[in-house]
Amino acid sequence: MFCCISHKGLWWLLGFLAVGLFLVFWPWSAVLQPVLSWVLGLAFVTFTLWASADICSGIYVKAHCSNSRQTGAVALTFDDGPCAQSEEVLDLLKDYGAKATFFVVGSRMEGQYKLLLRLLAEGHQLGNHTWAHRSWFPLLRPAQMRKEIMQTQTEIERVSGRTCRFFRPPFGVTNPLLAKALKGSGMDVAGWSVRSFDTRGEAPEVVFKRITRRLKGGDVVLLHDTSVPVVPVLKLLLPWLAQHNLQSLTLDAFWAEGAKKQPI
Ligand SMILES: [Zn+2]
Repeated sequence: MFCCISHKGLWWLLGFLAVGLFLVFWPWSAVLQPVLSWVLGLAFVTFTLWASADICSGIYVKAHCSNSRQTGAVALTFDDGPCAQSEEVLDLLKDYGAKATFFVVGSRMEGQYKLLLRLLAEGHQLGNHTWAHRSWFPLLRPAQMRKEIMQTQTEIERVSGRTCRFFRPPFGVTNPLLAKALKGSGMDVAGWSVRSFDTRGEAPEVVFKRITRRLKGGDVVLLHDTSVPVVPVLKLLLPWLAQHNLQSLTLDAFWAEGAKKQPI
């Protein structure tokens, strides 16, 4: 397990175990020891869940979540496409001169080649979001995960003629299995710093307010071109970005220069 955990994660775990051993084996009263064991057990489970659920925890893989050097730009990212609605998203991005990154699901690319070629021709970027976006993807064996990722990688490279740099795991879940699957792939994991929750079925104004509440230069915004309110949200968000002098860049451009390399 330790082979797949980052140095920071390893120190966290070792520190946690050291404190845990001290508390459990210190000669506390007989009543207190079982209570401490339970508390520590629960804390460990909570820590493990947080480490997996928060893509920016950096415990298992290093993800690109925000870039403090990009004070005048944000990165809009769209997951789960391509789909029919992606056309409308592209129309709006074009109207505002905004560039974005689309994390596509490999199996959904078939029949959408015209759309994908338009997307690339208009200066947007493709990212890898697995082949089938399975609900149980985080539980697959590393070899199966890698197969899902590489299948999409091949398809993206076939369409774009370029190596795909960024991977975003479904649901943003990371774990030691994913770390092993990505090892040696050369891919960078893309996280986010602003989550729109645009798939909850809320009104576009609610989603827009959630995004812009703390949005600033350097943020990576997670959206879905498959979500119902994404078009009306963009109709609010793109003018807002223009008013605040914030450009929207692809992830390649966002981390093109001066970015600290964060290897997996
Ligand atoms: Zn997704």
